[in-house]
Parts: sequence; structure tokens; C-alpha cells
Amino acid sequence: MTQEIYLSKKDIIKYLKTTNAEEIKYLFDKANALTEKLRGNKIHFRGIIEFSNYCEKNCFYCGLRRDSKIERYLMTKDEILNCAKFCHEKNYGSLVLQSGEITTNKRLDFLIDIISTIKEKYNLGMTLSLGEMPKNSLQKLFDAGGHRYLLRIETSNESLYKKLHPKNHSFKNRLKTLDNLRDIGFQVGTGVMIGLPFQTYEDLANDILFFKKMDIDMLGMGPYVADEKAPLYKNAPILKDAFMLSLKMVALSRLYLKDVNIAATTAMQTFDKKGREKAMTAGANILMPIVTPTHLRKNYMIYSNKPCVEDTKEQCFNCITARLRSINKEMGQNQYGDSLHFHKRIQK
Ligand code: SAH
Ligand code: SF4
Repeated sequence: MTQEIYLSKKDIIKYLKTTNAEEIKYLFDKANALTEKLRGNKIHFRGIIEFSNYCEKNCFYCGLRRDSKIERYLMTKDEILNCAKFCHEKNYGSLVLQSGEITTNKRLDFLIDIISTIKEKYNLGMTLSLGEMPKNSLQKLFDAGGHRYLLRIETSNESLYKKLHPKNHSFKNRLKTLDNLRDIGFQVGTGVMIGLPFQTYEDLANDILFFKKMDIDMLGMGPYVADEKAPLYKNAPILKDAFMLSLKMVALSRLYLKDVNIAATTAMQTFDKKGREKAMTAGANILMPIVTPTHLRKNYMIYSNKPCVEDTKEQCFNCITARLRSINKEMGQNQYGDSLHFHKRIQK
């Protein structure tokens, strides 16, 4: 199992299309073997704090879009720090601060204060997932102590991107923001949704080539889940079985990109109760247990049927550690679990 396989774009498309159980098992086993060679059986945690659902954007697929009639919230500094304290006490090592996109100076100042306080009090690794921002704002968040940033390109096909977003949402700006993040010194994460309306196998293969071309350090991908609050709901996807395709995308990305961090995302669990475990035995090495207070989770429904909405952060901790045991993996306690690719990249 240790012998590496090399994939061309044609091979990637072949694996995306295959329904042959043996070929699929071979792919997942190869990806898992490479992950274990790089990381042993360690899975690194990032407790995710979904601290606000206000959003200036109107992406056609998302339940938090500006036009969505949902109850909006912004957690207080104390509430956020309380979640960070929980991540520290549970030895998660890292957290993610995620929200809708808000570009006001007031929000920037709030974030700088929160990030620097978390850094000082708990020294946790911090991934930010806040959407697009001007370069000077991103620089301030980096200086405050954020060192990883997750900004999905959503799809690397510009014409498909245009079908998924209103006219004033710019693909070029999203690309530029990824470049800015790299220039500033962030570990850069991106990713796509899988099984989107209009999306083809070729698009997905090109996404993997795009990740390589962009020299990205981290990946967060998952199935597109139709949400009745969002207008894309009315367009049926062309590709079938977004969950299986998502597992294959994880495995193929591991084999193609090798040393990047890849998340077993929460959306993986929407279509399959063991979705995240399956992703972690097919190339994923990162888990993002939700630590958002339970009473707010129902208002952070990016998509329908989001898992873990009724649970407390303690239940998420217990559930996830049991899930890891079931696949013979364990938490990398108190470690940042940084992207190996990032460290190699900055030494060049
Ligand atoms: N506002 C930030 C972060 C929050 S949204 C941003 O957009 O970057 C985080 C991710 O949720 C998005 O990048 C998108 O890929 C995903 N998402 C949104 N709607 C979704 C849906 N209907 N199904 C699956 N994932 C979705
Ligand atoms: Fe806002 Fe992000 Fe949802 Fe787009 S995907 S509407 S930016 S929360």
C-alpha cells in the first residue's frame, strides 16, 4: 500500500466516474495509506465557532445569504471567549472563527480584539473563515494572531461561478484574495462544493488541478446540499451521488496534492451518518467539531439538514472522539496540526 500512484487529469475523471467497488476501495486505501505515512493516525481538531450569521453577500446556494429571512445574531466577546476556553480545555489545539461576510471597520476592530485575546489567553491555532476582505484588513487579522484562512473558491470554473452568484460577486476578487492571503503569510485554504447544479466531472477534475496550481495548503470540500431558502434550490444537479463524489474528491486531492491538510467537513455527514469517518479513512486529516452554543445553531443553517444542530459542544466532543476510536484514529492533542505543505512552501 505504500507505493505511490501518480494521477493524470484523465485518471482523475476515470476515478470520479467509476462505480466499480474494487477501484473505489483501492483509491480510498491508497489515500489513507499516504495520509498515515504523513500524519500517522493523528487527526487534528479545529473547534468551529460560528460567531455570526449576518452576511452582506447573496450567494445563490447559501441559507445565510442577505435575503434569507432568518434571525440574525452576533455572539458577544465573552460568548466567543467561552467557546475558545472550551477548545483549550478539551485540548483541541486550534479553532476556526467563521461567519457571514461583513466588511465594516467596526467588525474588523471587533475581530482584532477577539483574535488577539484568544492568542494571548489560550495560544490556540486560529483559522479564519470570514469571506473576502481588503488586503490591509487581512493583514491586521494576521498581525493579531490568525495564521490560517479558509476561503473556498466554490468552483474553479469562472462561468459556473457566475451562475452561482449575483453579478456583483467577483470570481477575480476571490482569486485575488487567495493571492493576498498567501502574500501576507497565511496558511491558505480553499475548496469547492461538489455536486452543484451545472457542474460536470471535468469541472471537478479541473478543481483539483486548480488547487495544485494555486499551491494551496489546506482544503475544505463537501457536497452541495440544496437549501430551500436559497434560489439555487430550483436547479437540479447533473451529477448523481454528491456524497460519494465528495469522498472521491478527498481521496484524489490527497493523492494529487499529497502534503496538504484536508478536512472531513460537517456537510459530509448530511447524506451519510458515518460521512466524516469515511472521509477520514479516505484522505482527510482534519476535523472541525462545532462549538457554537446550541441555541444559535438553528440560525447557522448554511444548508438544510445540517448535522449536530441540537447538540451541545460537550456532546460534539464525546461523539467525535467515539467516532475516531471506531476508525483507529486519535486526536493530535494540543497541537496546531499545521499544513506540512505550508512549512515546505515557506522554506523554498
Ligand atoms: N461567509 C464565508 C464563510 C461561511 S460560508 C464564505 O463564504 O467564505 C462557508 C462555506 O459554506 C462556503 O464557502 C460554501 O462552500 C459553503 N456552503 C454554502 N452554502 C452551501 C450549501 N448549500 N451546501 C453546501 N455548502 C454550502
Ligand atoms: Fe454569505 Fe458565505 Fe453564505 Fe455567501 S457562502 S451568502 S458569503 S455566508
